[in-house]
Amino acid sequence: MSKKPHFQSPPGMHDILPEDEKYFQKLFHLAEGLANFYGFERIDTPLMEFAELFEKGTGQTTDIVEKQMFTLRTRGGDALALRPEFTPGLVRAFLQHGMSNLPQPVKLYSIGPAFRYESPQAGRFRQFHQIDFEVLGETSPAIDAQIIQIFYNLLDELKFKNPVIEINSIGANCCRPYFKKILAGYLRSHYNSLCLDCKRRVRENPLRVLDCKEEKCQPIKAASPQIIDHLCEDCHNHFKEVLEFLDELGLPYRLNPYLVRGLDYYTKTVFEIFIESTSAQNQAPIALVGGGRYDNLGKVIGNKDIPACGAAAGVERIVQEMILRQPELHTETRKDVFLAQVGNLAKKKSLRLFEDFRRARIPIGESLSKDSLKVQLSRADRLQVRYTLILGQKEALEKTVIVKDMKRGTQETIKMDKVVHEIKKRLLKK
Ligand code: AMP
Repeated sequence: MSKKPHFQSPPGMHDILPEDEKYFQKLFHLAEGLANFYGFERIDTPLMEFAELFEKGTGQTTDIVEKQMFTLRTRGGDALALRPEFTPGLVRAFLQHGMSNLPQPVKLYSIGPAFRYESPQAGRFRQFHQIDFEVLGETSPAIDAQIIQIFYNLLDELKFKNPVIEINSIGANCCRPYFKKILAGYLRSHYNSLCLDCKRRVRENPLRVLDCKEEKCQPIKAASPQIIDHLCEDCHNHFKEVLEFLDELGLPYRLNPYLVRGLDYYTKTVFEIFIESTSAQNQAPIALVGGGRYDNLGKVIGNKDIPACGAAAGVERIVQEMILRQPELHTETRKDVFLAQVGNLAKKKSLRLFEDFRRARIPIGESLSKDSLKVQLSRADRLQVRYTLILGQKEALEKTVIVKDMKRGTQETIKMDKVVHEIKKRLLKK
């Protein structure tokens, strides 16, 4: 048995190997296509922000900030954090660059890694990637529906069958504080039956009890008051309209009164999108996308009202399903031509010729490191090229190239300085 190398990647942080990169690239390409179609512009913010941005923005009592943030102090004494999610950084950038002076809404998207100190397991990593779409500066419920539609489309384009949208409204400052009191009162009357975490949550953030997965808390959750019955008129109407838009778009959703999402900044709409896993071991539905409206975050971060709505998809979880569903994804870039060479002089000449083809934008394959013609020709076969160019000692001296038509099985000799032009002409005719 081979000994494991001394260094391994840190727990929960993975190399993306070449055989998996093609899935990541396909997914990113799809997301970029949707971003262009729906008018989103790309933004990339630093991987690190001041830790305080997340403490204030994401919320001090959230799991993400309380337990999962990678923080460090710089030599200069700044407390920084690796981003555990994108939204606070995007809102910070929006404010920092005066984007509220642009025509509203501003539609931004970003793709990149996020970091959470989790206990690593399948589908839960410490470094993972997200595709994030945010619309800033717009109150309309149509935006909430559009964000959901975009992520639904992403999964639909990947041919993931029957994604389920779970949706809820958690109200806003106008009605949530009142509901929190009602809920806390109810939870206190069941205090002794709650799990340890939820006992603390009753004091700090009672809504989060609704999110608890502990067996013990399930019966208490099931009989708890529901926020949907306590929304103010504005929040109620907003939610009703979001659902009407979803109906109009024909998007299948399920109301989930226990969906609160772990973060402090959400207002009104919250949603997640799940799929049934195709993996034999994984029976539970997998959360692929999570998001919602966050009308107060601008106020918290920059004392500015920025109504906004957004969501993020978990790239590794989606890629894992892509691999399970389509293990043979074949994306080796198509080559039309293959360049084979025999002998030192021919190798030298073929370097130049290869560059001539690149300049003419003709996809061409090679095995310059190989000397055996047989090995090179079998690679040309595998690539299923239309033409193989063969350059031997004689051709190199005569400044010619043998052009083999792989479809017809014919071959002829062409002058080296004419071959790019000639191949281009033939490929166009094809
Ligand atoms: P969240 O905002 O936490 O719901 O995250 C949005 C999406 O990111 C989730 O639905 C997951 O698909 C993905 N995600 C969140 N945390 C992790 C993690 N630790 N590892 C892998 N994917 C994650």
